[in-house]
Amino acid sequence: MALIPHIIGGEHVETAERTQPVFNPATGQPQHELAIASAATVEQAVAAAKAALPAWRKTSLTKRADVFFNLRQLLKQRTPELAAIVTSEHGKVLSDAAGEIARGLENVEFASGLLHLLKGERDEQVSTGVDVHSIKQPVGVVAAITPFNFPVMVPLWMIASAIACGNTVVLKPSERDPSASVFIAELFREAGLPDGVLNVVHGDKVAVDTLLDSRDVKAISFVGSTPIAKYIYERAAANGKRVQALGGAKNHMIVMPDADLNGAADAAVSAAYGSAGERCMAVSVVVAVGGVGDELVAKIAERMEKLKIGDGTDPASEMGPLITAEAKARVESYVAGAEAEGATVVVDGREAQFEGDGFFTGVSLLDHVKTDSKVYLEEIFGPVLAVVRVDTYEEGLQLINEHQFGNGTAIFTRDGGVARQFEFEVEAGMVGLNVPIPVPVGSFSFGGWKDSLFGDAHIYGPESIYFYTRSKVVTTRWPKPDQSRVDLGFPSNS
Ligand code: NAD
Repeated sequence: MALIPHIIGGEHVETAERTQPVFNPATGQPQHELAIASAATVEQAVAAAKAALPAWRKTSLTKRADVFFNLRQLLKQRTPELAAIVTSEHGKVLSDAAGEIARGLENVEFASGLLHLLKGERDEQVSTGVDVHSIKQPVGVVAAITPFNFPVMVPLWMIASAIACGNTVVLKPSERDPSASVFIAELFREAGLPDGVLNVVHGDKVAVDTLLDSRDVKAISFVGSTPIAKYIYERAAANGKRVQALGGAKNHMIVMPDADLNGAADAAVSAAYGSAGERCMAVSVVVAVGGVGDELVAKIAERMEKLKIGDGTDPASEMGPLITAEAKARVESYVAGAEAEGATVVVDGREAQFEGDGFFTGVSLLDHVKTDSKVYLEEIFGPVLAVVRVDTYEEGLQLINEHQFGNGTAIFTRDGGVARQFEFEVEAGMVGLNVPIPVPVGSFSFGGWKDSLFGDAHIYGPESIYFYTRSKVVTTRWPKPDQSRVDLGFPSNS
C-alpha cells in the first residue's frame, strides 16, 4: 500500500515512525498507509515554514496575487481528479465533492484580491505637521488543523487568506482523508508558491500538541468537534497564540405555519441527509410550529423513501457512507436509544440493507423528540433528523437560544416580519431565511456563536484578514531642522 507523505519545504517526506491506514468508506477496506508525524517531524515542518517566511513576506503583493489566479485555474481544471480523491477517502458523492471544491474556490478568489484587502489607512494632518498611517503585516507561521468532513473546503478556508497575508503555513489535515491536502499543496506549488510556504504534516494529537506548544507558531486556526476546539483554544491561548477554534453544531430549522410545506420538506431532506449529515451546517432539528408537524413529517418521510444511498462514485447515488465504522456505530446507537428517550422513530436507518463492508447507514427520522434527550442535545453528525413540535414561534426561538450550539439556523416562512424578528433575536452566527444551509459566500466570514466557536475571529472572508495580520500604526512628522525643542509634556495634538 502506498504511503501518503508529509510535504515539508516542498519535499515529500516519508518518515514512517508510525503509520495508520486510510480507508475507502464505500468498501470498508484500507487503501493507503498514512505517515503519522512525530514531534520531530512537525518541528521540521515548522522550521521549514519559518525559513520560508522572510522571502514570502517580501514577495510583492502582485506576485502573491498571481499565485492565487493560477491556483484558481488549476483547481477548476483538476476538479474531477480532486473530487475523486475526496470521494475515495471521505465517501461523499462525486457531485457533492465537486460542490465542496467550488465553495473552496471562493476563498481562493477572495485571496486573489489581496492588494485591496491589505490596504492600510492614512490620516493627514492629525496634528499640525503630523500624519498617521496603518499597515497590516503577517503574524508569522500559522498552523491550520482541519476536520474530515470538508477535506478541500476547510483547508482552503484557512490557508488561502493566511498565505495571501504573507504568512507561511503548516497544515495538519484530518488523518481520515488526508490526500486532498497533499494534492492542494502540489497545486499551490504548480501555481508558483515557493517551497516551504505551505507544508503539510499528517498526524494525531502528538502533531497537534507540538503545533500548539511551538514557540515559532504564532496563530492557530482549527475546525473540528467542540471538545477538541475548546482544548485547542485553551492550550494555544495559554501559550500566547492567536487562536480561532470552530466546533460542532446542532442546527435548527423552524417551519412556520404559513411556510410552503413542500419547499420546507425538500429543504429539510436536502440539508439533513446531504453528505450523510456530516456537515457542520447540516439541519439536524426541524422545529414544527403551530400544528404543521403531521403534514411536514409525512412529506419528509415520503421524500426519504426515494433517496438513493450507495457508492459515491456511482452517479445515481445521492448519499454515500459514513466516514468510519465507529461513526456508523455511534450514529446508529443514537437511533437505537431514541425510542427509550420518548421519540417516535418514523424512519429507522438501521433497517436499510447494503451489500459489502462499507460504512453505510440509512436515513433516520425521529418525531416528537424531547428537548432533554440525548438525540436533541448532542451533535450526532450523521443522517438523523429530529423533529420537535412547538405551538409558537417564541417557543421555537427559545429552544435555539438555549441550545449549547449556535452555528447555523434557518426559518421557513412567507412572513417578512417574522423573518426579520428571527434575524434580530436568534442566537446563532449564520442565519438562513428560507435558506436551509446558510454558509456565507467567500466575501463574508463564517462562524458560529456559543460552543460552536472559541475565539473572536470568524473564519475566511474579511475577518480572516484581521486574524492573519498584525496592524502597525506609524506616526510621521517631517519638521524643518530649526523647529524642534525639548518638551517633557505628554504629546498632544495641536
Ligand atoms: P475532530 O475534532 O475529531 O478532529 C478535528 C482535528 O482535530 C483533526 O485534524 C484531528 O486529527 C484533530 N484531533 C482529534 N482529536 C484530537 C486531540 N485529542 N487532540 C488534538 N487534536 C485532535 O473532528 P472531525 O471528526 O474530524 O470533524 C467533525 C467535527 O467537526 C464535527 O463536530 C463538526 O461539527 C465539526 N465541524 C465544524 C465546522 C465549523 O465550521 N464549525 C466545520 C466542519 C466540521
